[in-house]
Amino acid sequence: MFDYLIVGAGYAGSVLAERLAQVANKKVLIIDKRNHIAGNAYDYYNEDGILIHKYGPHIFHTNSKDVFDYLSKFTEWHYYQHKVLASVDGQMVPIPINLNTINALYGLSLNSNEVEDFFASKAEDVKQIATSEDVVVSKVGRELYEKFFKGYTKKQWELDPSELDASVTARVPTRTNKDDRYFTDTYQAMPLYGYTKMFEKMLDHPNIKIMLNTDYQDIIDEIRYKKLIFTGPVDEYFNYCYGKLPYRSLEFKFETIDRDQFQQAGTINYPNDYAFTRITEFKHLTGQKHPKTSLVYEYPKAEGDPYYPIPKMENTLLYKKYQALADQLTNTYFVGRLATYKYYNMDQVVAQALTTFKKILTQETTKPSTNGKQILKSKN
Ligand code: FAD
Ligand code: UDP
Repeated sequence: MFDYLIVGAGYAGSVLAERLAQVANKKVLIIDKRNHIAGNAYDYYNEDGILIHKYGPHIFHTNSKDVFDYLSKFTEWHYYQHKVLASVDGQMVPIPINLNTINALYGLSLNSNEVEDFFASKAEDVKQIATSEDVVVSKVGRELYEKFFKGYTKKQWELDPSELDASVTARVPTRTNKDDRYFTDTYQAMPLYGYTKMFEKMLDHPNIKIMLNTDYQDIIDEIRYKKLIFTGPVDEYFNYCYGKLPYRSLEFKFETIDRDQFQQAGTINYPNDYAFTRITEFKHLTGQKHPKTSLVYEYPKAEGDPYYPIPKMENTLLYKKYQALADQLTNTYFVGRLATYKYYNMDQVVAQALTTFKKILTQETTKPSTNGKQILKSKN
């Protein structure tokens, strides 16, 4: 009899497994249908010995001291500030758009005050910022929106930015200074020995058993447990009873070339050319020294592994119906990017899992847990 069955060994599942085992002394079984732990953050050394990320480039950044301190129990860090260039009008210019971007693109030599006026002169007057188009045109105008955002977003989401929630392009700010970092968070670092090693340490506890290559549907009736933590897609859990929640997928094409370096920055975005959105060169991120270098090209797709929830009002409303079902289940917790249908970064999922753990602890101390296997209403 396990105290907890945890479905999914990504951040959501692994953080909860660790806390429940270490702090609450619970017996935990964590399973994943893949053949590895670490979820989408999984990394490994390829056949040339270069550390790569199987599910696309993962750069850790957070403003939360709690999250950073928590993960620091399981890893040392390689401090890295991510930089991204965009290939626009035949030039490689910094994105997020900043002072240097504008000066390079238009052959100007503006200062910060002047670039602010430049943006103001181009910005469109948008009454209410509702969509991803509104966010950008209200700050920098239509021309820059079309150069940097429209094409990239159409490729990535197969939707026009005017059809997507504001939150999507709002992830990318606009700057009037020369700060050319992609993120400005207080803590920006990569696990020194990789994400997978960090997860191995997190899950290395006598109270935690790990089962890989295991879909929960295949074992749910065989395993005895008291409570369930589910981190897979919430619509799958409820047998798609309200229909499928849309997710966006990607195909990753990896390449290793016999050269020390391929490109000037960790990532180069291609908003207007090619079928892929961006190329990332892993050695920039990891700081690894190697005579060869490995790259990943990201090709957006409709079908495939569910990587991105699609932030759009109708999808949020559909998710809310599933959330209402989830809320009715006692002793079952839905945590993570897929189970709560949120376009969360890694640190946000860690924070969500730590909050869920606190909630669980409070419940454990205030009411007795049910004995025996819970009846999963949704399965019948
Ligand atoms: P996941 O990592 O998806 O883990 C869920 C696990 O559940 C999976 O391993 C899955 O196999 C398992 N599972 C699902 N269904 C079942 C089932 N039926 N039975 C058993 N197991 C099941 N975040 C950042 O902070 N920085 C970045 O640079 C960044 N880059 C990203 C790039 C890409 C291309 C993508 C897709 C995401 C990126 N993210 C990034 C987001 C990051 O991947 C997520 O925030 C994080 O991995 C979510 O963790 P999770 O545990 O919620 O989900
Ligand atoms: N985006 C864009 N052009 C860019 C970078 C981002 O249009 O050069 C838009 C695009 O819609 C993208 C979103 O902003 O999906 C968020 O970008 P981010 O780099 O955060 O995407 P992620 O790393 O999560 O794929």
